[in-house]
Amino acid sequence: MSWFKRATDGLKTQKKKDMPELWLKCQSCGEVIYKKELEKNYHVCAKCDFHFRMKPDDYITLLLDEEQFDEFNANMLSVDFLKFKAKKKYSDQIKAAVKKTGKNDAVRTGFGKIHGQEIVICMMDFSFIGGSMGSVVGEKIARATDEAIKRRLPLIILSASGGARMMEGAISLMQLAKTSTRLAKFAEKGLPFISILTDPTTGGVTASFAMLGDIILAEPGALIGFAGPRVIKQTIGQDLPEGFQRSEFQLKHGFVDAVVSRHEMKEKLKQIIDFTMPAAMNLAENGEFEVGASDTLNQSENDDSTTLNKDVGAN
Ligand SMILES: [Zn+2]
Repeated sequence: MSWFKRATDGLKTQKKKDMPELWLKCQSCGEVIYKKELEKNYHVCAKCDFHFRMKPDDYITLLLDEEQFDEFNANMLSVDFLKFKAKKKYSDQIKAAVKKTGKNDAVRTGFGKIHGQEIVICMMDFSFIGGSMGSVVGEKIARATDEAIKRRLPLIILSASGGARMMEGAISLMQLAKTSTRLAKFAEKGLPFISILTDPTTGGVTASFAMLGDIILAEPGALIGFAGPRVIKQTIGQDLPEGFQRSEFQLKHGFVDAVVSRHEMKEKLKQIIDFTMPAAMNLAENGEFEVGASDTLNQSENDDSTTLNKDVGAN
């Protein structure tokens, strides 16, 4: 019967089409989710609470009052000073990433408000060359820290990174020292630095600012570590425990202070700021810490770094 046998030869079976763009499958529980619903739920699976990766724009919606974000240094661009080429030219990678994301590098920094309290916030973007930290990411975080000192504001950094940007060689590694020393100055002023680790926070970012928070929060299920689990497994030749390097594992082992769901993140930040800021302001009023940060804004340091970055106009 032609129902069961092909009556004509040469007909090609149509390939099963991928699921339409409007829907996607949860990586964790397999539930098919309507994309719009997922966006409304801050990219969290309603069935299993899996946290999908988010971009800075989504965090602006999630965390900041009236979605107001006053960005600075947005035009700072990376320069391929080593003329680095592996599979692709680094210069081409930068161009492609700028085109894809519509942003100039893997972090956005600026002012915002959380329940009326002004803050300085830095948000990394994993979709920009794996959220890798090169000279621009390091410089923008250093400048954001200076800005928080100058205005005596809490600092919040959301990390999402595969590590240092190897295409910038040793310069990318220098960003570890640069961001860490600025944060040490920030700590001297008694201001709170809240570090939020999202999926994934690894490599040079874990080895520097991400782990220097006065309070370190993590989103559920985020991969947090220095080397990835595959590399560790190969190196030690042993199976790794279940949930290795995930937020909950790191909480149990003392690397993070709390695992906080996206739905509770803004309230948690408010709670921490309300708890820490009065003390920071008291210290300033009692003259124990100098208000203003002219000493931290070392002009020559800034000049050095701008020779590496093409800063096309402030803001
Ligand atoms: Zn799910």
